[in-house]
Amino acid sequence: MQHGSSNTIRQARPTRREFAVFTLLTFLMIGSSAWAVRSLPSSGVVTAVFDGDTILLDTRDRVRYLGIDAPEVSHGKEASDCMGEEAAKFHSQMVLHKRVFLHYDRERRDDHGRLLAYVHLPDGRCANVELLRGGYAFVRRSREGFARLNEFLGIQREAVQARRGWWGKCPGTPAGEYLGNRRSFVLHVPHCPWGKRTEARNRERFPSRWRAFEEGYRPCRECKP
Ligand SMILES: [Zn+2]
Repeated sequence: MQHGSSNTIRQARPTRREFAVFTLLTFLMIGSSAWAVRSLPSSGVVTAVFDGDTILLDTRDRVRYLGIDAPEVSHGKEASDCMGEEAAKFHSQMVLHKRVFLHYDRERRDDHGRLLAYVHLPDGRCANVELLRGGYAFVRRSREGFARLNEFLGIQREAVQARRGWWGKCPGTPAGEYLGNRRSFVLHVPHCPWGKRTEARNRERFPSRWRAFEEGYRPCRECKP
């Protein structure tokens, strides 16, 4: 009996090995939460501009602008989208070598590990807004949504109506009607293979592409409506 009870007591006490594992886990937890905080910088100097919506900071963080999507610049053999180079140039002149301030929303990183943020300039302007206003980018809805969506939609509507940037310079593919995907808010011409994949319940038809763009749709990269 005595043997048995002393055994029980010994088992209840942490062994040196268990204590070491516990200590290690505690340090790892503290370390990883410190890393998580450090990995969300509030500002940085822009050392590179990749296109109309992505930058690199001196903190080594890549930042993808939240709530917008700019036309692509050329990648390897793929030619640039209409206004892709202009958007990158406008963007670069606005932010390159400047200190920018990052404001976060619900979604803070994308699937590629890039930070998702509103990027503010030293003079207080929001670069995401300036790109939208000039017609250098489209509103992009994210999975989780973002607080400034309605404001961004209003700015796109104004840029569309004024035919600024992409809206005035990039003629779309003529079509009798256009097919919108109410889930992704991407607009297609009816014969687009990507558009055809839109589920029936998410389809919205537009007699005019301008109407769709004013409502916050962005053009499909393939069929270019
Ligand atoms: Zn399409």
